[in-house]
Amino acid sequence: MKIFIDGQYYDENTAKVSVFDHGLLYGDGVFEGIRAYHGRVFRLKEHIDRLFFSAKAILLSPPMTNEAICEAVLATCRENNLRDGYIRLVVTRGVGTLGLNPNRCSKPSVIVIADKIQLYPQEMYEHGMAIVTVPTVRNLHSALNPAIKSLNYLNNILAKIEANNAGVEEAIMLNSEGFVAECTGDNIFIVRGNELLTPPLAAGALYGITRGVVLDLARDLGLRVGEPNLTRYDVFNADECFLTGTGAELIPVTKVDGRVIGTGEPGPQTRKLTELYHALTKTSGAPIFG
Ligand code: PMP
Repeated sequence: MKIFIDGQYYDENTAKVSVFDHGLLYGDGVFEGIRAYHGRVFRLKEHIDRLFFSAKAILLSPPMTNEAICEAVLATCRENNLRDGYIRLVVTRGVGTLGLNPNRCSKPSVIVIADKIQLYPQEMYEHGMAIVTVPTVRNLHSALNPAIKSLNYLNNILAKIEANNAGVEEAIMLNSEGFVAECTGDNIFIVRGNELLTPPLAAGALYGITRGVVLDLARDLGLRVGEPNLTRYDVFNADECFLTGTGAELIPVTKVDGRVIGTGEPGPQTRKLTELYHALTKTSGAPIFG
């Protein structure tokens, strides 16, 4: 595998960053998880735009333009002959001193890794997954805004550990007010009658690219789409529940905190939206090979 670091390609075992990079020392940096399907990078522009928004929020200026980073992602896929896979794009603050001060960092680094991913077992896509609510609440906007896809993912990792300890793969994170925010690496949706609902971004969710695509698909399907505050009660009593993410795509949830959701099997709207999502990934995206 060839890994892009600051304009050059390195083999897996020589692709290294400095121990003085503030991305390592402090989680100071931003990232994206992007997916390629059938020789096209899905929603590339949206991912790069979000990367730049995250970077702006932490006053980090990527050392390449938006267009140059798009091209680096496509070129790294080409270099690895990758048609289907998962791309991790990272911008770190760069090499600095042992103090926090980002102004001491000389130049941000851009890293692109083009690899494969299988987030959840196939069985869960067919029959649904069980999730739980965990005690770790989502970061406050006023502390570390969850909209920033930063290299500091400890809030999510702690929740993920709690999910694993409870014997499940994903967890609902509530915000400090007790409303449902999202999961550790996925956005959450419920279906109620002909309504598709997902927590508002202000509840503490990432501006999920898959979330946006699914909301558009649902509108096209004629579902009523809403982004109200949701409580655990709303989730327990939903007809259907599913999660979305670039890695996860759409995955049905059939049990939450021991409560069976709907019929206990993936519901019809979840199946329909999954089908439409897969159809879209087959036909849309930035071509890797021109
Ligand atoms: N929430 C969190 C916390 C995430 O890390 C992610 C990405 N893995 C998502 C939601 C889903 O976002 P996207 O659809 O853009 O991948």
